Amino acid sequence: MDTDTMTTAKASAPSPVLILLGPPGAGKGTQARMLEEKLGLVQLSTGDLLREAVAAGTDAGKAAKAVMEAGGLVSDEIVINILRDRLAQPDTAKGVILDGFPRTTVQAEALDRLLEEQGQKINAAISLEVDDTEMVTRIAGRYTCAACGEGYHDLYKQPVTDGTCDKCGGTEMKRRADDNAETVGSRLKAYHAQTAPLIAYYGGKGALQKIDAMGDIDQIAAGMHAMVARAIA
Ligand code: ADP
Ligand code: ZN
Repeated sequence: MDTDTMTTAKASAPSPVLILLGPPGAGKGTQARMLEEKLGLVQLSTGDLLREAVAAGTDAGKAAKAVMEAGGLVSDEIVINILRDRLAQPDTAKGVILDGFPRTTVQAEALDRLLEEQGQKINAAISLEVDDTEMVTRIAGRYTCAACGEGYHDLYKQPVTDGTCDKCGGTEMKRRADDNAETVGSRLKAYHAQTAPLIAYYGGKGALQKIDAMGDIDQIAAGMHAMVARAIA
């Protein structure tokens, strides 16, 4: 192979694209962060991007705020634009784990087109399989350290000293505005009506993989790691 061919081959080599599917509270964010650390892929959460837009008070953020607090889905147009901009950042060349996108068929089709334009494809869409009933308890009890982002839970994982982060010693804890029992119901409804059909969508493309996500976090992470390693090999 001469140098020219090598350069071309490298520049056009597709980087991995993974999608995490599953209801709110399934652990997509937790697992995506663990995969990011282990495999050097970039976690891309439209929920995080939208919360940043809300905090920054951009037009998209202003339009999204009330919908998010009510547990509905933000418009496809806004979310697709935010995701397209984020995918244009150079760090995504390492490969991406999409966490919380796509959430509708329109978004899935937009993603297909976007990837096709860039000569990329989806390596796997991984569905985190969980019981809905447990999701309400999981979400309504969760909170994070404002300083370092470490996650805690009222029932499952309290810091050793009440109100103080085990990891960084921070004493300010925060809860997401939409992590309350009332809003969780709407979020689960939106998931079943608009996002669950994507399981069949990716099944039809031969990209779907399922994992039992009800057990221990580290055990699920080990299963995910093996699954992803095969998918991007
Ligand atoms: P969770 O998966 O726990 O519901 P996220 O952080 O992924 O949390 O999303 C929080 C909220 O942000 C959603 O309830 C929704 O209002 C909005 N959102 C995030 N991603 C999308 C998306 N792809 N399409 C539409 N709305 C979205
Ligand atoms: Zn902390």
